[in-house]
Amino acid sequence: MTTHKILINGKWINSESGQTFTSANPATEAPIGKFQAGNKEDVKKAVDAAEKAYEKWREVPPPKRGRILYNIAQLLRKNKERLARLVTKEMGKVISEARGDVQEAIDITEYMAGEGRRLFGHTTPSELQDKFAMTIRIPVGVFGLITPWNFPTAIPAWKIMPCLMCGNTIVFKPASDTPLCATELVRIIEKAGIPKGVINMVTGSGRDVGMPIVTNKKIRGVSFTGSKETGETIIRDAGLKKLGLELGGKNGIIVMDDAKLDLAVDGIIWGGYGTTGQRCTATSRVIVHEKIKTRVETLLVNRIKKLRLGYGLDPKVDVGPLINKAAVDKTHKYTQLGLKEGAKLLVGGHPTNVDGKGFFYKPTLFTNVTKDMRIAQEEIFGPSISIISVKNLNQAIDVMNSIEYGLSSAIYTENMRSAFLAIEQIEAGLTYINSSTIGSEAHLPFGGVKGTGHTREAGIEGINEFSHTKTVYVDYSGRLQKAQIDVRD
Ligand code: NDP
Repeated sequence: MTTHKILINGKWINSESGQTFTSANPATEAPIGKFQAGNKEDVKKAVDAAEKAYEKWREVPPPKRGRILYNIAQLLRKNKERLARLVTKEMGKVISEARGDVQEAIDITEYMAGEGRRLFGHTTPSELQDKFAMTIRIPVGVFGLITPWNFPTAIPAWKIMPCLMCGNTIVFKPASDTPLCATELVRIIEKAGIPKGVINMVTGSGRDVGMPIVTNKKIRGVSFTGSKETGETIIRDAGLKKLGLELGGKNGIIVMDDAKLDLAVDGIIWGGYGTTGQRCTATSRVIVHEKIKTRVETLLVNRIKKLRLGYGLDPKVDVGPLINKAAVDKTHKYTQLGLKEGAKLLVGGHPTNVDGKGFFYKPTLFTNVTKDMRIAQEEIFGPSISIISVKNLNQAIDVMNSIEYGLSSAIYTENMRSAFLAIEQIEAGLTYINSSTIGSEAHLPFGGVKGTGHTREAGIEGINEFSHTKTVYVDYSGRLQKAQIDVRD
Protein backbone atom coordinates (compact mmCIF):
# COMPACT_ATOMS: atom_id res chain seq x y z
CA MET A 1 0.00 0.00 0.00
CA THR A 2 1.35 3.44 -0.95
CA THR A 3 2.18 5.89 1.83
CA HIS A 4 1.31 9.37 0.58
CA LYS A 5 2.97 12.58 1.71
CA ILE A 6 2.05 16.16 2.44
CA LEU A 7 3.01 19.07 0.17
CA ILE A 8 4.97 21.95 1.67
CA ASN A 9 6.83 24.52 -0.40
CA GLY A 10 6.78 22.36 -3.53
CA LYS A 11 8.12 19.24 -1.77
CA TRP A 12 6.19 16.07 -0.90
CA ILE A 13 7.41 15.17 2.59
CA ASN A 14 6.55 13.17 5.71
CA SER A 15 4.75 14.74 8.65
CA GLU A 16 6.75 15.83 11.70
CA SER A 17 4.48 13.50 13.70
CA GLY A 18 5.92 10.33 12.20
CA GLN A 19 2.38 8.93 12.22
CA THR A 20 0.07 7.85 9.42
CA PHE A 21 -3.60 6.96 9.02
CA THR A 22 -5.39 4.77 6.47
CA SER A 23 -8.13 5.65 4.02
CA ALA A 24 -10.52 2.84 3.07
CA ASN A 25 -13.15 2.05 0.45
CA PRO A 26 -16.56 2.40 2.18
CA ALA A 27 -18.17 -0.21 -0.11
CA THR A 28 -15.56 -2.96 0.34
CA GLU A 29 -13.75 -1.77 3.48
CA ALA A 30 -10.46 -2.45 1.65
CA PRO A 31 -7.66 -0.01 2.58
CA ILE A 32 -6.58 2.21 -0.30
CA GLY A 33 -3.63 4.20 1.01
CA LYS A 34 -1.72 5.53 3.99
CA PHE A 35 -1.56 9.25 4.67
CA GLN A 36 0.46 11.53 6.91
CA ALA A 37 -1.20 12.36 10.23
CA GLY A 38 -0.11 15.99 10.12
CA ASN A 39 0.27 18.22 13.18
CA LYS A 40 0.72 21.84 14.13
CA GLU A 41 4.42 21.83 13.21
CA ASP A 42 3.48 20.84 9.66
CA VAL A 43 0.85 23.58 9.59
CA LYS A 44 3.41 26.13 10.74
CA LYS A 45 5.82 25.11 7.97
CA ALA A 46 3.03 25.20 5.40
CA VAL A 47 1.93 28.66 6.53
CA ASP A 48 5.50 29.98 6.37
CA ALA A 49 5.88 28.61 2.84
CA ALA A 50 2.54 30.10 1.79
CA GLU A 51 3.47 33.46 3.31
CA LYS A 52 6.73 33.55 1.39
CA ALA A 53 5.12 32.49 -1.89
CA TYR A 54 2.42 35.15 -1.45
CA GLU A 55 4.89 37.98 -2.06
CA LYS A 56 5.43 36.82 -5.64
CA TRP A 57 2.08 35.19 -6.44
CA ARG A 58 0.09 38.33 -5.62
CA GLU A 59 2.10 40.19 -8.26
CA VAL A 60 1.52 37.68 -11.05
CA PRO A 61 -0.89 39.40 -13.48
CA PRO A 62 -4.34 37.81 -13.21
CA PRO A 63 -4.48 36.82 -16.92
CA LYS A 64 -1.31 34.81 -16.32
CA ARG A 65 -2.85 33.16 -13.26
CA GLY A 66 -5.83 32.44 -15.50
CA ARG A 67 -3.61 30.65 -18.03
CA ILE A 68 -2.37 28.31 -15.29
CA LEU A 69 -5.97 27.65 -14.27
CA TYR A 70 -6.80 26.75 -17.89
CA ASN A 71 -3.91 24.25 -17.75
CA ILE A 72 -5.42 22.78 -14.58
CA ALA A 73 -8.82 22.47 -16.28
CA GLN A 74 -7.25 20.71 -19.24
CA LEU A 75 -5.43 18.24 -17.01
CA LEU A 76 -8.59 17.60 -14.99
CA ARG A 77 -10.47 16.89 -18.21
CA LYS A 78 -7.74 14.53 -19.40
CA ASN A 79 -7.82 12.68 -16.07
CA LYS A 80 -11.60 12.86 -15.54
CA GLU A 81 -12.34 9.13 -15.69
CA ARG A 82 -9.38 8.19 -13.50
CA LEU A 83 -10.32 10.81 -10.89
CA ALA A 84 -13.99 9.82 -10.99
CA ARG A 85 -13.15 6.17 -10.33
CA LEU A 86 -11.04 7.31 -7.41
CA VAL A 87 -13.98 9.31 -6.01
CA THR A 88 -16.18 6.20 -6.13
CA LYS A 89 -13.45 4.10 -4.59
CA GLU A 90 -12.64 6.43 -1.72
CA MET A 91 -15.94 8.24 -1.06
CA GLY A 92 -18.48 5.69 -2.31
CA LYS A 93 -20.79 7.68 -4.60
CA VAL A 94 -21.84 5.87 -7.77
CA ILE A 95 -19.67 6.38 -10.83
CA SER A 96 -22.09 8.63 -12.76
CA GLU A 97 -22.22 10.99 -9.77
CA ALA A 98 -18.45 10.73 -9.31
CA ARG A 99 -18.02 11.93 -12.90
CA GLY A 100 -20.30 14.83 -11.98
CA ASP A 101 -18.08 15.59 -8.97
CA VAL A 102 -15.02 15.88 -11.21
CA GLN A 103 -16.99 17.80 -13.85
CA GLU A 104 -17.93 20.39 -11.22
CA ALA A 105 -14.24 20.84 -10.52
CA ILE A 106 -13.57 21.33 -14.24
CA ASP A 107 -16.45 23.81 -14.56
CA ILE A 108 -15.32 25.97 -11.64
CA THR A 109 -11.73 25.91 -12.85
CA GLU A 110 -12.72 27.11 -16.33
CA TYR A 111 -15.03 29.74 -14.90
CA MET A 112 -12.36 31.09 -12.55
CA ALA A 113 -9.69 30.95 -15.28
CA GLY A 114 -11.89 33.36 -17.27
CA GLU A 115 -11.90 35.71 -14.27
CA GLY A 116 -8.23 36.32 -15.06
CA ARG A 117 -9.38 38.75 -17.73
CA ARG A 118 -12.22 40.23 -15.65
CA LEU A 119 -11.78 40.54 -11.87
CA PHE A 120 -13.99 43.58 -12.29
CA GLY A 121 -14.20 46.51 -9.94
CA HIS A 122 -16.54 49.48 -10.36
CA THR A 123 -15.98 53.00 -11.56
CA THR A 124 -18.44 55.62 -10.41
CA PRO A 125 -18.56 59.43 -10.47
CA SER A 126 -17.19 61.36 -7.53
CA GLU A 127 -19.31 63.99 -5.81
CA LEU A 128 -16.44 66.44 -6.37
CA GLN A 129 -14.99 67.89 -9.55
CA ASP A 130 -11.70 66.60 -10.93
CA LYS A 131 -11.83 63.52 -8.79
CA PHE A 132 -12.03 59.91 -9.97
CA ALA A 133 -13.53 57.05 -7.95
CA MET A 134 -13.23 53.31 -8.45
CA THR A 135 -12.91 49.96 -6.69
CA ILE A 136 -10.32 47.28 -7.32
CA ARG A 137 -9.91 43.78 -5.95
CA ILE A 138 -6.98 42.89 -3.74
CA PRO A 139 -5.94 39.49 -2.39
CA VAL A 140 -6.48 38.59 1.25
CA GLY A 141 -3.17 36.78 1.91
CA VAL A 142 -2.64 33.22 3.13
CA PHE A 143 -5.91 31.26 3.13
CA GLY A 144 -6.71 28.10 5.10
CA LEU A 145 -9.09 25.83 3.20
CA ILE A 146 -10.85 23.06 5.15
CA THR A 147 -13.11 20.69 3.22
CA PRO A 148 -15.48 17.75 3.81
CA TRP A 149 -15.48 14.34 2.14
CA ASN A 150 -18.83 14.34 0.34
CA PHE A 151 -17.60 16.18 -2.77
CA PRO A 152 -13.94 15.25 -2.52
CA THR A 153 -12.92 16.87 -5.81
CA ALA A 154 -15.59 19.52 -6.39
CA ILE A 155 -15.57 21.27 -3.00
CA PRO A 156 -11.76 21.64 -2.81
CA ALA A 157 -11.83 22.98 -6.39
CA TRP A 158 -14.65 25.43 -5.56
CA LYS A 159 -12.34 26.95 -2.98
CA ILE A 160 -8.88 26.50 -4.48
CA MET A 161 -9.60 28.00 -7.92
CA PRO A 162 -11.09 31.37 -6.90
CA CYS A 163 -8.55 31.55 -4.07
CA LEU A 164 -5.65 31.20 -6.53
CA MET A 165 -7.26 33.49 -9.07
CA CYS A 166 -7.53 36.30 -6.50
CA GLY A 167 -3.78 36.09 -5.75
CA ASN A 168 -3.90 34.30 -2.39
CA THR A 169 -1.74 31.40 -1.33
CA ILE A 170 -3.11 28.30 0.33
CA VAL A 171 -2.80 25.85 3.19
CA PHE A 172 -5.30 23.11 2.34
CA LYS A 173 -6.59 20.49 4.78
CA PRO A 174 -8.81 17.88 3.14
CA ALA A 175 -11.22 15.59 5.02
CA SER A 176 -9.57 12.54 6.58
CA ASP A 177 -12.04 10.23 4.81
CA THR A 178 -10.94 11.33 1.31
CA PRO A 179 -7.25 12.29 1.35
CA LEU A 180 -6.42 10.39 -1.84
CA CYS A 181 -8.87 12.41 -3.97
CA ALA A 182 -7.34 15.58 -2.51
CA THR A 183 -3.78 14.41 -3.12
CA GLU A 184 -4.51 13.64 -6.77
CA LEU A 185 -6.18 17.02 -7.26
CA VAL A 186 -3.21 18.85 -5.76
CA ARG A 187 -0.77 16.84 -7.90
CA ILE A 188 -2.64 18.05 -10.99
CA ILE A 189 -2.58 21.65 -9.79
CA GLU A 190 1.16 21.36 -9.21
CA LYS A 191 1.74 19.79 -12.62
CA ALA A 192 -0.18 22.61 -14.32
CA GLY A 193 2.49 25.11 -13.29
CA ILE A 194 1.47 26.63 -9.94
CA PRO A 195 4.72 27.90 -8.35
CA LYS A 196 6.04 26.17 -5.25
CA GLY A 197 4.58 27.28 -1.93
CA VAL A 198 1.45 28.75 -3.54
CA ILE A 199 -0.54 25.65 -2.62
CA ASN A 200 0.43 23.52 0.38
CA MET A 201 -1.53 20.53 1.62
CA VAL A 202 -1.45 18.99 5.08
CA THR A 203 -3.52 15.84 5.72
CA GLY A 204 -4.55 14.91 9.26
CA SER A 205 -7.33 15.34 11.78
CA GLY A 206 -9.53 18.32 12.48
CA ARG A 207 -7.95 18.64 15.90
CA ASP A 208 -4.29 18.37 14.87
CA VAL A 209 -4.38 20.16 11.49
CA GLY A 210 -7.74 21.96 11.20
CA MET A 211 -7.57 23.78 14.52
CA PRO A 212 -3.97 24.99 14.09
CA ILE A 213 -5.01 26.43 10.71
CA VAL A 214 -8.01 28.20 12.22
CA THR A 215 -5.99 29.76 15.04
CA ASN A 216 -2.81 30.60 13.09
CA LYS A 217 -2.32 34.36 13.17
CA LYS A 218 -0.54 34.51 9.83
CA ILE A 219 -3.56 33.05 8.09
CA ARG A 220 -5.80 35.91 6.96
CA GLY A 221 -8.79 33.93 5.73
CA VAL A 222 -10.43 30.57 6.40
CA SER A 223 -12.90 28.95 4.04
CA PHE A 224 -14.68 25.96 5.53
CA THR A 225 -17.35 23.56 4.35
CA GLY A 226 -18.62 21.03 6.85
CA SER A 227 -20.94 20.56 9.77
CA LYS A 228 -22.62 23.32 11.72
CA GLU A 229 -20.96 22.10 14.91
CA THR A 230 -17.44 22.48 13.49
CA GLY A 231 -18.44 25.79 11.87
CA GLU A 232 -19.41 27.12 15.28
CA THR A 233 -16.04 26.21 16.80
CA ILE A 234 -14.33 27.94 13.88
CA ILE A 235 -16.33 31.15 14.45
CA ARG A 236 -15.28 31.02 18.08
CA ASP A 237 -11.58 30.32 17.49
CA ALA A 238 -10.66 32.11 14.25
CA GLY A 239 -10.39 35.66 15.57
CA LEU A 240 -10.52 38.49 13.06
CA LYS A 241 -10.03 36.47 9.91
CA LYS A 242 -12.07 36.63 6.73
CA LEU A 243 -14.39 33.65 7.25
CA GLY A 244 -16.36 31.65 4.72
CA LEU A 245 -18.63 28.97 6.17
CA GLU A 246 -20.80 26.57 4.19
CA LEU A 247 -22.63 24.48 6.78
CA GLY A 248 -25.43 21.92 6.71
CA GLY A 249 -28.98 21.77 5.43
CA LYS A 250 -32.39 20.21 6.07
CA ASN A 251 -33.79 20.70 2.65
CA GLY A 252 -37.43 20.24 1.69
CA ILE A 253 -39.49 19.63 -1.40
CA ILE A 254 -43.07 20.94 -1.42
CA VAL A 255 -45.43 18.87 -3.59
CA MET A 256 -48.69 20.70 -4.29
CA ASP A 257 -51.89 18.94 -5.34
CA ASP A 258 -51.52 20.36 -8.87
CA ALA A 259 -47.98 19.00 -9.33
CA LYS A 260 -46.92 16.50 -11.97
CA LEU A 261 -46.47 13.62 -9.55
CA ASP A 262 -44.14 11.46 -11.62
CA LEU A 263 -41.81 14.42 -12.04
CA ALA A 264 -41.97 15.16 -8.31
CA VAL A 265 -41.23 11.55 -7.41
CA ASP A 266 -38.20 11.54 -9.74
CA GLY A 267 -36.95 14.67 -7.97
CA ILE A 268 -37.51 13.23 -4.48
CA ILE A 269 -35.71 9.96 -5.25
CA TRP A 270 -32.78 11.78 -6.84
CA GLY A 271 -32.62 14.44 -4.11
CA GLY A 272 -33.05 12.07 -1.16
CA TYR A 273 -31.10 8.99 -2.13
CA GLY A 274 -28.58 10.34 -4.64
CA THR A 275 -25.11 10.38 -3.02
CA THR A 276 -26.82 8.20 -0.37
CA GLY A 277 -28.34 11.36 1.10
CA GLN A 278 -24.91 12.78 1.85
CA ARG A 279 -25.22 16.11 0.07
CA CYS A 280 -25.61 19.32 2.00
CA THR A 281 -28.50 19.98 -0.41
CA ALA A 282 -30.02 16.48 -0.09
CA THR A 283 -33.81 16.29 0.14
CA SER A 284 -34.71 15.14 3.63
CA ARG A 285 -38.27 16.46 3.99
CA VAL A 286 -41.17 16.06 1.59
CA ILE A 287 -43.92 18.53 2.41
CA VAL A 288 -46.92 17.17 0.61
CA HIS A 289 -50.46 18.43 0.09
CA GLU A 290 -52.80 16.17 2.09
CA LYS A 291 -54.95 15.41 -1.00
CA ILE A 292 -52.10 13.57 -2.73
CA LYS A 293 -50.21 12.22 0.29
CA THR A 294 -51.24 8.56 -0.09
CA ARG A 295 -50.55 8.58 -3.82
CA VAL A 296 -47.07 10.11 -3.33
CA GLU A 297 -46.29 7.55 -0.60
CA THR A 298 -47.24 4.63 -2.86
CA LEU A 299 -45.22 5.96 -5.80
CA LEU A 300 -42.19 6.55 -3.60
CA VAL A 301 -42.27 3.16 -1.88
CA ASN A 302 -42.49 1.40 -5.26
CA ARG A 303 -39.48 3.29 -6.53
CA ILE A 304 -37.44 2.88 -3.34
CA LYS A 305 -37.90 -0.89 -3.37
CA LYS A 306 -36.30 -1.02 -6.81
CA LEU A 307 -33.14 0.92 -5.84
CA ARG A 308 -30.04 -1.28 -6.15
CA LEU A 309 -27.37 -0.87 -3.48
CA GLY A 310 -23.73 -1.76 -4.11
CA TYR A 311 -20.23 -0.75 -5.08
CA GLY A 312 -20.66 2.31 -7.26
CA LEU A 313 -18.17 1.24 -9.94
CA ASP A 314 -20.89 -1.13 -11.17
CA PRO A 315 -23.00 1.09 -13.46
CA LYS A 316 -26.16 -0.85 -12.50
CA VAL A 317 -25.89 0.33 -8.88
CA ASP A 318 -28.20 3.22 -7.88
CA VAL A 319 -27.08 3.86 -4.29
CA GLY A 320 -23.61 3.48 -2.83
CA PRO A 321 -22.54 3.13 0.81
CA LEU A 322 -22.39 5.75 3.54
CA ILE A 323 -18.95 7.16 4.18
CA ASN A 324 -18.13 5.12 7.32
CA LYS A 325 -19.50 3.15 10.25
CA ALA A 326 -20.19 6.29 12.28
CA ALA A 327 -22.47 7.55 9.48
CA VAL A 328 -24.40 4.25 9.52
CA ASP A 329 -24.81 4.52 13.28
CA LYS A 330 -25.95 8.14 13.03
CA THR A 331 -28.55 7.35 10.35
CA HIS A 332 -29.83 4.42 12.39
CA LYS A 333 -30.00 6.52 15.54
CA TYR A 334 -32.38 8.84 13.66
CA THR A 335 -34.50 5.89 12.47
CA GLN A 336 -34.94 4.80 16.07
CA LEU A 337 -35.65 8.34 17.14
CA GLY A 338 -38.29 8.71 14.40
CA LEU A 339 -40.06 5.56 15.56
CA LYS A 340 -39.93 6.75 19.15
CA GLU A 341 -41.37 10.12 18.15
CA GLY A 342 -44.36 8.38 16.54
CA ALA A 343 -43.46 8.59 12.84
CA LYS A 344 -44.50 5.67 10.62
CA LEU A 345 -41.73 3.81 8.82
CA LEU A 346 -42.84 2.94 5.28
CA VAL A 347 -39.70 1.28 3.96
CA GLY A 348 -36.01 0.75 4.85
CA GLY A 349 -34.79 1.71 8.29
CA HIS A 350 -31.84 -0.58 8.89
CA PRO A 351 -28.15 -1.05 8.08
CA THR A 352 -27.21 -3.62 5.49
CA ASN A 353 -24.17 -4.84 3.55
CA VAL A 354 -23.24 -6.13 0.13
CA ASP A 355 -21.42 -9.49 0.08
CA GLY A 356 -20.91 -9.13 3.84
CA LYS A 357 -19.05 -5.81 3.47
CA GLY A 358 -19.58 -2.08 3.37
CA PHE A 359 -21.33 0.73 5.23
CA PHE A 360 -24.71 0.45 3.55
CA TYR A 361 -28.08 1.64 4.82
CA LYS A 362 -31.45 0.80 3.30
CA PRO A 363 -33.10 3.85 1.71
CA THR A 364 -35.60 4.92 4.35
CA LEU A 365 -38.96 6.67 4.16
CA PHE A 366 -40.99 7.92 7.11
CA THR A 367 -44.50 9.33 6.98
CA ASN A 368 -46.86 11.00 9.47
CA VAL A 369 -43.94 13.16 10.51
CA THR A 370 -44.68 16.49 12.18
CA LYS A 371 -42.54 19.55 11.72
CA ASP A 372 -41.20 19.58 15.27
CA MET A 373 -39.92 15.99 15.36
CA ARG A 374 -36.14 15.70 15.49
CA ILE A 375 -36.08 13.71 12.24
CA ALA A 376 -37.74 16.75 10.62
CA GLN A 377 -35.38 19.25 12.22
CA GLU A 378 -31.87 17.78 12.38
CA GLU A 379 -29.48 16.95 9.57
CA ILE A 380 -29.23 13.15 9.22
CA PHE A 381 -26.84 13.13 6.24
CA GLY A 382 -28.01 9.69 5.21
CA PRO A 383 -30.70 8.14 2.95
CA SER A 384 -33.69 9.08 5.08
CA ILE A 385 -36.73 11.13 4.03
CA SER A 386 -39.63 12.35 6.15
CA ILE A 387 -43.08 13.04 4.71
CA ILE A 388 -45.01 15.86 6.37
CA SER A 389 -48.52 16.55 5.13
CA VAL A 390 -50.06 20.03 4.89
CA LYS A 391 -53.41 21.56 3.95
CA ASN A 392 -52.26 24.44 1.74
CA LEU A 393 -49.30 26.45 0.43
CA ASN A 394 -49.14 28.75 3.47
CA GLN A 395 -48.76 25.78 5.76
CA ALA A 396 -46.22 24.21 3.41
CA ILE A 397 -44.04 27.32 3.50
CA ASP A 398 -44.40 27.53 7.26
CA VAL A 399 -43.13 23.93 7.58
CA MET A 400 -40.35 24.60 5.06
CA ASN A 401 -39.12 27.56 7.14
CA SER A 402 -39.53 25.89 10.54
CA ILE A 403 -35.91 24.69 10.66
CA GLU A 404 -32.64 26.16 11.81
CA TYR A 405 -30.96 25.71 8.41
CA GLY A 406 -31.60 27.54 5.15
CA LEU A 407 -29.74 25.97 2.25
CA SER A 408 -31.90 24.44 -0.49
CA SER A 409 -35.61 24.07 -1.23
CA ALA A 410 -37.94 23.08 -4.05
CA ILE A 411 -41.58 23.19 -5.02
CA TYR A 412 -43.46 21.08 -7.54
CA THR A 413 -46.52 22.91 -8.84
CA GLU A 414 -48.12 23.85 -12.14
CA ASN A 415 -49.46 27.05 -10.59
CA MET A 416 -47.32 30.11 -11.34
CA ARG A 417 -48.62 32.04 -8.34
CA SER A 418 -47.67 29.22 -5.94
CA ALA A 419 -44.22 29.04 -7.54
CA PHE A 420 -43.58 32.77 -7.16
CA LEU A 421 -44.90 32.88 -3.59
CA ALA A 422 -42.49 30.05 -2.78
CA ILE A 423 -39.58 31.92 -4.38
CA GLU A 424 -40.47 34.99 -2.34
CA GLN A 425 -41.24 33.41 1.03
CA ILE A 426 -38.96 30.39 1.47
CA GLU A 427 -35.98 31.18 3.69
CA ALA A 428 -33.18 29.47 1.77
CA GLY A 429 -30.21 30.30 -0.42
CA LEU A 430 -31.55 28.11 -3.24
CA THR A 431 -35.10 27.51 -4.49
CA TYR A 432 -35.82 25.16 -7.37
CA ILE A 433 -39.13 25.14 -9.25
CA ASN A 434 -40.19 21.73 -10.60
CA SER A 435 -36.74 20.30 -10.00
CA SER A 436 -35.05 18.65 -7.02
CA THR A 437 -33.09 20.37 -4.23
CA ILE A 438 -29.75 19.54 -5.84
CA GLY A 439 -28.00 20.60 -9.02
CA SER A 440 -26.04 23.83 -8.64
CA GLU A 441 -24.01 25.20 -11.54
CA ALA A 442 -20.53 26.72 -11.32
CA HIS A 443 -21.43 30.16 -12.69
CA LEU A 444 -24.21 30.79 -10.16
CA PRO A 445 -23.71 31.58 -6.49
CA PHE A 446 -24.20 28.78 -3.99
CA GLY A 447 -24.87 29.11 -0.27
CA GLY A 448 -27.50 29.49 2.41
CA VAL A 449 -29.10 31.61 5.07
CA LYS A 450 -29.74 31.12 8.81
CA GLY A 451 -27.88 28.12 10.34
CA THR A 452 -26.30 27.18 7.01
CA GLY A 453 -24.08 30.26 7.14
CA HIS A 454 -24.11 33.23 4.80
CA THR A 455 -21.24 32.51 2.46
CA ARG A 456 -21.68 32.47 -1.30
CA GLU A 457 -19.32 30.31 -3.31
CA ALA A 458 -19.01 29.90 -7.09
CA GLY A 459 -20.04 32.41 -9.71
CA ILE A 460 -18.95 35.99 -9.39
CA GLU A 461 -19.80 35.97 -5.68
CA GLY A 462 -17.18 33.26 -5.21
CA ILE A 463 -14.61 35.91 -6.08
CA ASN A 464 -15.87 38.11 -3.23
CA GLU A 465 -15.16 35.31 -0.77
CA PHE A 466 -11.47 35.27 -1.62
CA SER A 467 -10.69 38.95 -2.21
CA HIS A 468 -11.14 42.33 -0.58
CA THR A 469 -12.56 45.35 -2.29
CA LYS A 470 -10.29 48.39 -2.15
CA THR A 471 -11.85 51.79 -2.81
CA VAL A 472 -9.59 54.23 -4.66
CA TYR A 473 -10.02 58.03 -5.01
CA VAL A 474 -7.82 59.95 -7.42
CA ASP A 475 -8.01 63.70 -6.95
CA TYR A 476 -6.53 65.59 -9.91
CA SER A 477 -7.89 69.02 -8.97
CA GLY A 478 -4.58 70.15 -7.50
CA ARG A 479 -6.27 71.51 -4.36
CA LEU A 480 -7.66 70.12 -1.11
CA GLN A 481 -11.25 69.02 -1.72
CA LYS A 482 -13.33 67.85 1.19
CA ALA A 483 -16.05 65.28 0.61
CA GLN A 484 -19.41 66.14 2.23
CA ILE A 485 -18.07 69.60 3.18
CA ASP A 486 -17.22 71.22 -0.15
CA VAL A 487 -20.39 69.89 -1.75
CA ARG A 488 -23.31 72.35 -1.89
CA ASP A 489 -26.95 71.26 -2.25
P1 NDP B 1 -17.02 18.07 9.63
O1 NDP B 1 -17.40 19.42 10.09
O2 NDP B 1 -16.85 17.03 10.64
O3 NDP B 1 -15.62 18.11 8.84
C1 NDP B 1 -15.36 19.00 7.80
C2 NDP B 1 -13.88 19.30 7.76
O4 NDP B 1 -13.51 19.99 8.95
C3 NDP B 1 -13.00 18.05 7.73
O5 NDP B 1 -11.86 18.34 6.96
C4 NDP B 1 -12.64 17.86 9.20
O6 NDP B 1 -11.47 17.13 9.42
C5 NDP B 1 -12.45 19.31 9.62
N1 NDP B 1 -12.58 19.55 11.05
C6 NDP B 1 -13.21 18.78 11.98
N2 NDP B 1 -13.13 19.38 13.20
C7 NDP B 1 -12.44 20.53 13.02
C8 NDP B 1 -12.03 21.58 13.91
N3 NDP B 1 -12.34 21.58 15.20
N4 NDP B 1 -11.35 22.62 13.39
C9 NDP B 1 -11.06 22.67 12.08
N5 NDP B 1 -11.39 21.70 11.21
C10 NDP B 1 -12.09 20.65 11.66
O7 NDP B 1 -18.06 17.67 8.51
P2 NDP B 1 -18.08 16.35 7.64
O8 NDP B 1 -16.78 16.09 7.01
O9 NDP B 1 -18.69 15.30 8.46
O10 NDP B 1 -19.04 16.80 6.44
C11 NDP B 1 -20.40 16.68 6.50
C12 NDP B 1 -21.01 18.02 6.82
O11 NDP B 1 -20.66 18.99 5.85
C13 NDP B 1 -22.51 17.94 6.79
O12 NDP B 1 -23.04 18.54 7.94
C14 NDP B 1 -22.90 18.74 5.55
O13 NDP B 1 -24.13 19.36 5.57
C15 NDP B 1 -21.80 19.73 5.44
N6 NDP B 1 -21.63 20.16 4.07
C16 NDP B 1 -22.03 21.43 3.73
C17 NDP B 1 -21.97 21.88 2.45
C18 NDP B 1 -22.38 23.27 2.11
O14 NDP B 1 -21.95 23.76 1.10
N7 NDP B 1 -23.20 23.94 2.89
C19 NDP B 1 -21.45 21.04 1.37
C20 NDP B 1 -21.04 19.73 1.82
C21 NDP B 1 -21.13 19.33 3.13
P3 NDP B 1 -11.50 15.54 9.58
O15 NDP B 1 -12.05 15.00 8.30
O16 NDP B 1 -10.08 15.20 9.78
O17 NDP B 1 -12.38 15.24 10.74
